[in-house]
Amino acid sequence: MKILIADDEKVIRKIIEASLRVFNDEILTAPGGDEAWEIISQGEVSLVITDWIMPGLSGVDLIQKVRQADFQHYVYMVLLTARSDKNDIVAGLEAGADDYLVKPFSVPELRARISIGKRILNYQLRLQETQARLLDMATHDSLTGLLNRRALYDQLGAELERASHGRVPLSVIMFDIDHFKKVNDTYGHLVGDKVLCLVTKKIEKNLRPYDWVGRWGGEEFLVVMRQTTEEEAVKIAERIRTSIAEIRFDFTKDVEDLRVYVSGGVGVAGPGRVAPGEPAPDSENWDMDDLVHRADMALYRAKQSGRNRVCTMEGSVQEPV
Ligand code: GH3
Ligand code: MG
Ligand code: MG
Repeated sequence: MKILIADDEKVIRKIIEASLRVFNDEILTAPGGDEAWEIISQGEVSLVITDWIMPGLSGVDLIQKVRQADFQHYVYMVLLTARSDKNDIVAGLEAGADDYLVKPFSVPELRARISIGKRILNYQLRLQETQARLLDMATHDSLTGLLNRRALYDQLGAELERASHGRVPLSVIMFDIDHFKKVNDTYGHLVGDKVLCLVTKKIEKNLRPYDWVGRWGGEEFLVVMRQTTEEEAVKIAERIRTSIAEIRFDFTKDVEDLRVYVSGGVGVAGPGRVAPGEPAPDSENWDMDDLVHRADMALYRAKQSGRNRVCTMEGSVQEPV
């Protein structure tokens, strides 16, 4: 971790720095409050030992500034000052200091107190890591690593809100693997799982930088495309469909001949949508459930008209080439 020592006396900075060398942390120094703030505001310092009276920002000003700032991690602040009055100690702690040491200080005591700060910071770091891992698990599917259904709903909701604000079309494709049950029945679930992962990779490879995909359900994927009209969405869906049809699943000898096909249904929200009998563009429909429903209906058409193809809710059904 990075430790910052702020003190206007060079000798004191040197003594503190030497005392902390045992910790093997990166130590930075600042001769005043303004310089200290400049370093801290970069967001990498975890622990600060600061003098009270310094040129520029005082130690207490510095602590208050840190407490008001919105850093991603906690900054542990220690006041190290000649001011030993009880009222000063209370004022320093009330300003937001985590600890208070009076000069002249004892080196073993400083080390012991810094150890406390490091222990708390490490504990907080571990908590943050656990939290990030839990969030990842709650929002991602463990097999494919894609966003799961719940996260997909949240993210799609946010995308729709943005799109409706700017009145730009947003397209989705609902993909469903054709006769996937047969893959499981013929080759077993583990092969089925590998197929799902390879299909995922193929979809991801064919997306543009701002498109994204989530696992809607078992063998169903929802692709979301910003600023994309129905016509563009159909093209991308076709590209994904054909690239999946070309995958050679040759991970074991038994499955050399396996081919997997997908059907896709395109749905559009906003001005890029074309649907007879639905509201005119001046009352564009940005509702998420309606959008997913349209993609579902289109997928149903693709399945009904022979599978391995992409459909919209109406319009001609394209035969696969
Ligand atoms: P259709 O062309 O009409 O979509 O037929 P289908 O067989 O693909 O559809 P169906 O809904 O009958 O079967 C889907 C299958 O997907 C059944 C289920 O066991 C399988 N499946 C769902 N999730 C997973 C998974 O995570 N791993 C594996 N191996 N199979 C899965
Ligand atoms: Mg299905
Ligand atoms: Mg299927």
